[in-house]
Amino acid sequence: MLSAELAARFAALLGPERVLTAADDLALYASDETPRFCPPEAVLFPTCHEDVVEIVRLAARHRLPITPRAAGSGNVGGALPTPGSVVVSFECMNRVLEFDPDGRVMVVEPGVVTDDIDRLARSAGLMYAPDPGSGAYCRIGGNLAMNAAGPRAVKYGATRDHVLGLRAVLGDGREIRAGARTTKYATGYDLTRLLVGSEGTLALVTEATLRLVPAPERIANLRVCYASNRAACAAIGRVMRQPVVPSALEFMDRRSIDAIREYGGAEGLPEGTRAVLMVAADGAHDDVPRQIAALEAALAGDGLLEVQSGFTAEEMARLWTARKSLSMAVKKIAPLKINEDVVVPVPRLGELVEAIDALGERHRIPLVAFGHAGNGNLHVNLMVHADDADEMARARACRLELVQAVLRLGGSLSGEHGIGSEKRHFLGLEFDPDTLALMRELKAVFDPLGILNPGKKLPD
Ligand SMILES: Cc1cc2nc3c(=O)[nH]c(=O)nc-3n(C[C@H](O)[C@H](O)[C@H](O)COP(=O)(O)OP(=O)(O)OC[C@H]3O[C@@H](n4cnc5c(N)ncnc54)[C@H](O)[C@@H]3O)c2cc1C
Repeated sequence: MLSAELAARFAALLGPERVLTAADDLALYASDETPRFCPPEAVLFPTCHEDVVEIVRLAARHRLPITPRAAGSGNVGGALPTPGSVVVSFECMNRVLEFDPDGRVMVVEPGVVTDDIDRLARSAGLMYAPDPGSGAYCRIGGNLAMNAAGPRAVKYGATRDHVLGLRAVLGDGREIRAGARTTKYATGYDLTRLLVGSEGTLALVTEATLRLVPAPERIANLRVCYASNRAACAAIGRVMRQPVVPSALEFMDRRSIDAIREYGGAEGLPEGTRAVLMVAADGAHDDVPRQIAALEAALAGDGLLEVQSGFTAEEMARLWTARKSLSMAVKKIAPLKINEDVVVPVPRLGELVEAIDALGERHRIPLVAFGHAGNGNLHVNLMVHADDADEMARARACRLELVQAVLRLGGSLSGEHGIGSEKRHFLGLEFDPDTLALMRELKAVFDPLGILNPGKKLPD
């Protein structure tokens, strides 16, 4: 329990308006996108790096667990408070500290909204490439902690590939700087890449130096319909084998297509469509038609029903809005979505999709699969009713078998959502004991008292 005295010391440090302790306020910070609820002892709002240092030092002295939080849009309980913890919310640390178009660099605090970074970059002909579907409201601190990514990752990579350096506070209040401002770097250990994806368990990030890339002059899209999942997966393999890298290659199965009908993403699909690929190409104005022609050639094959192209900007926006709505749209199938975010090598994608179909049928659970097929990353949603004990038991068995199938195919538990509190019990299936032990030792070096986001990422 947070004592009144300690609450008062946080209030003296940050100002009383930056410390919440009333039950109604705490409830707003008690969950993320997972269906769980655990109110913290308090919510603290630092406004600068120095505030974070002081918060951590005070918390360390009192062995007070900290749950870092950005926008709370995570799917795995990363920002879900652990009992007895205080939430450190980065929403007030939302300044762009520097924008250097010539150096293609932006330095930001962790509370800046992801799409705002991209918007500012575009004002100078650049872009911030990572594009999670939640970009309109998630914050860069959350993206860094989860190594977030979106459709563009197939061509441009994930958050980790766009972070040059970080400033951070370790679990005992030490302050570090990692990385550099350059796109080449061979000095010391690469702590930047280690901290990205560490889910707030190793350090609190207070500043990030981001790499920007030139914004493409032109983007073109294809919507491609297939008669079966197998045909669509074969086409994905052909696309990723040829030299033109698409700037998006997204897969939707039959249930996903049904879910987005009301968002206008499934208008005019040919009869018999069982799978849809959304494909994009970007680059220099004159080069995009050449890329599209190469992609169309690779997409053609058995089971192809139709390739649609020549979308207007408005139509394109509608298609992508529908695709981005899928996470929410599937909830009409059943109220509870158990979201797996598995990833396999692209050539094994067809086997994964077959396994998903078979598992859904055997366990009698509606499974909806869609996602970033060009990276081999599919969101597999088990749609269930929390009050149906039998269905929940079948879903648990189905989930375990899904994870086992993914690992057999040479894949991994998470492509972009991370592990949080929801998937950590599966980690022992993916890593051998020595690898897990090394991860625990690393955690102890960065956070000797174990106060940073306990109960996340690693199994007990
Ligand atoms: C509709 C929808 C669509 C989505 N689409 C995508 C997608 O396309 N791609 C994708 O990758 N994800 C997606 N997500 C998941 C989610 O948006 C991402 O995981 C995102 O990165 C979380 O950002 P956030 O600001 O909400 O962070 P939060 O959920 O608040 O926190 C995420 C993690 O970051 C840690 N953290 C936050 N700030 C800091 C900090 N300063 N220092 C250290 N740790 C910190 C938290 O403790 C937590 O572990 C989607 C979610 C929704 C609801």
